[in-house]
Amino acid sequence: MPKAGFKSITISESIYDRFYDVFDKNKQELSRKGVNSFAGYITYLLEDVMQKDRTFARYAPKLEKVAVDDDRVVIKDNIKNRIAEVVVQNGELYCLLCEEKDCFHIGFVFSLPDVYEILSSKGIKHTK
Ligand SMILES: [Zn+2]
Repeated sequence: MPKAGFKSITISESIYDRFYDVFDKNKQELSRKGVNSFAGYITYLLEDVMQKDRTFARYAPKLEKVAVDDDRVVIKDNIKNRIAEVVVQNGELYCLLCEEKDCFHIGFVFSLPDVYEILSSKGIKHTK
């Protein structure tokens, strides 16, 4: 039984191993973010996904992904009825429509799981 204030869940060994492997390989980087245990790592992942889901739900009907290139994401803005182009510039995202680095088009780009993966692999992180 877990201690008071905690609950346990059961997952398959292969899933556990897969996540543990990633945790183990990134221990150093994770501890800089304040993640010091495997349970903490799982919590951190889930929080991250929830945050992205919320962001996505907030933007979804208003913004649509049109195209994704290696360093460019084209978004259709259904509020302004314009096309917003978000590009990678000096290792950061930049919105050509707003001429800003932190507009809601950029927030939307970070909420797209496939794009987020490309960005992370390039070391581009959402600063918020
Ligand atoms: Zn914008």
